[in-house]
Amino acid sequence: MILTTKKISKIYERRGRQFFAVKSVDLSIFSGDFISIFGESGSGKSTLLSLLSGISEPSEGSISLDGELFSLQSDDWKSHVRNQRIGYVPQSVAILPTLNVLENVILPRTLAGENFSKRTRSTSGVRVRALELLSDLGIQNLAGDFPQNLSGGELRRVAIARALINEPELLIADEPTSNLDELSAKKIVALFRKEHELGTTIVVASHDPRFQNETSRLYFMKEGEIAETDGASL
Ligand code: ADP
Ligand code: MG
Repeated sequence: MILTTKKISKIYERRGRQFFAVKSVDLSIFSGDFISIFGESGSGKSTLLSLLSGISEPSEGSISLDGELFSLQSDDWKSHVRNQRIGYVPQSVAILPTLNVLENVILPRTLAGENFSKRTRSTSGVRVRALELLSDLGIQNLAGDFPQNLSGGELRRVAIARALINEPELLIADEPTSNLDELSAKKIVALFRKEHELGTTIVVASHDPRFQNETSRLYFMKEGEIAETDGASL
């Protein structure tokens, strides 16, 4: 897998004035990468991750996955990519209130339907994986609970399990450990390490120094622009 951006920008408007939330970003994400993106609040990290995950479109520039331009693909292709190839954990979590935790985690598999062909393809396989992910995240006891009874940190972990359920090639996670207690944050970092060792490519936006030890490449964002860094100045 290779995800490449060519000079992508996202332009927003505020009080009648246009500005670049993301500015001319060139980035290539290769299979096996573990990338961390740092940067102050408002520097454009979330906007960039939403572009990489295909849920928002750049104002300028292009994004391609294995050489195929996002912008030229059908809605079916994009849905398939978002469902089975890229797992995305947004900064603010959207969990369906009418499904319990386990059902929420399994939902992407339910949506994938019959043509799902990965390791955990059987109905029992997907349940085992879902419960394993919840257990790795320390919330297996919540499997039967409904979202309204969960804390923000617990919901975030449900969103992480849901992003991983379909064994994505690429996991994109936006501040996955922010506002979490020490133990929960450590569990998330350990799960990401495990999934990375199993072959998942990972991109996180995070201030959490715990991720710095895991990453193969560090990037720093400022005013929408991105630069690679060795971490010494962070
Ligand atoms: P970060 O994740 O690094 O905190 P964001 O990507 O969320 O940064 O935001 C980058 C800039 O774009 C900020 O100035 C933010 O206020 C602005 N922004 C984000 N989303 C929108 C939007 N939908 N409309 C207008 N401005 C936005
Ligand atoms: Mg953000």
